[in-house]
Amino acid sequence: PAADPAAGAAVKAADRAHVFHSWSAQGLIDPLAVAGAEGSWFWDYDGNRYLDFSSQLVNTNIGHQHPKVVAAIQEQAARLCTIAPGFAVDVRSEAARLIAERTPGDLDKIFFTNGGAEAVENAVRMARLHTGRPKVLSAYRSYHGATAAAINLTGDPRRWPSDTASAGVVHFWAPFLYRSPFHSDGEQQECERALQHLEDTIAFEGPATIAAIVLETVPGTAGIMVPPPGYLPGVREICDRHGIVFVLDEVMAGFGRTGRWFAADHFGVVPDLLTFAKGVNSGYVPLGGVAISAEIAATFDERPYPGGLTYSGHPLACASAVATINTMAEEGIVENAARLGERVLGPGLRELAGRHPSVGEVRGLGAFWALELVRDRATREPLVPYAAAGEAMTAFTAACKQNGLWPFVNMNRTHVVPPCTITEEEAKEGLAALDQALTVADGFTV
Ligand code: PLP
Repeated sequence: PAADPAAGAAVKAADRAHVFHSWSAQGLIDPLAVAGAEGSWFWDYDGNRYLDFSSQLVNTNIGHQHPKVVAAIQEQAARLCTIAPGFAVDVRSEAARLIAERTPGDLDKIFFTNGGAEAVENAVRMARLHTGRPKVLSAYRSYHGATAAAINLTGDPRRWPSDTASAGVVHFWAPFLYRSPFHSDGEQQECERALQHLEDTIAFEGPATIAAIVLETVPGTAGIMVPPPGYLPGVREICDRHGIVFVLDEVMAGFGRTGRWFAADHFGVVPDLLTFAKGVNSGYVPLGGVAISAEIAATFDERPYPGGLTYSGHPLACASAVATINTMAEEGIVENAARLGERVLGPGLRELAGRHPSVGEVRGLGAFWALELVRDRATREPLVPYAAAGEAMTAFTAACKQNGLWPFVNMNRTHVVPPCTITEEEAKEGLAALDQALTVADGFTV
């Protein structure tokens, strides 16, 4: 597309005059004006193209502007743009059926929301009503959304300004061998100690006070820590023993991101509630939801469920989910993510780690990878301190962008989370840009 800097400047000026941005000091930001996007790429008004290694906020699993999903939204808009949640509608029924068919076990009923945080809010409400218990446990290294219950569940520093001590949330440590909270020296030990720590937390909180344990199957924004194989089955067993509802948050890890439809499929676990959003329709229209087990759904057979949203199961969102899921199945997009992880991203990132002293650890699976950047490999001191920005990460991020790569950066990490549709050639092009940016990060090591 032809550059049009004047149009870009007008977009930017109106943004700065009237758009109030998320998570930002409004006077200190300089948002890029985006002119368009396709597949794994987006571009600005000045003629710069960016390979999107962030999938925006890890949501464009199917890439930008997939023609089948765009057409489905257009067709649905011409047929029926909106209808209240109380009606039965073809696209909503079909989206629920396609999702329920893929969620693990007996998670066969779907409550639709507009996004991930609302999914988490409703999962917590269901768990509290189902058990009649007040508390919810979640992990310190986690992100569950920015609304009331979801931000309290969140473990990362975004919780701090909005924390409500009365929220009934108790945090615990989940396994993370590279920065083990249990000083473990192997995966097996980390798994055993993490499960014991959870048992102890439950014992001291009082099992009969705990409604739910909420975990990201593979924690996303907090650092893509793939849990050791026995951990989630162990949590399942603990929940069963104490009558606690097990909620897996698959808002980021679900719908192909890890190379399976759901990350839970890697571990053979079936939660009681599973939250989803993002990849369900790649965010073409806002959509999220909760997949509900038969037992919890039965709680609300005779008793009304006290929750709802004007746009629950919005037809445009559901039509885009139907097209997204069908297209992902037809085009083998989940398989592509798995193959990409095994053949391209995993080996490519490990090769970069071998040459760059700033890379402390590479971890992930599918199209879901993290590089832990450190000042010192021996001490594992992070390139910037926890909960802080710093010159090193700012310079690294700028170097990525200069090389035409749009990175996902959080604290001392960069996540490699491209669309699940990315080609091998594009992924290699991105790795080459990352290689150059890591040389900049290396300059900040001891
Ligand atoms: N849960 C997880 C695991 C997430 O990664 C996110 C968003 O990044 C959310 C919940 C919140 O989703 P949303 O921003 O759609 O409310």
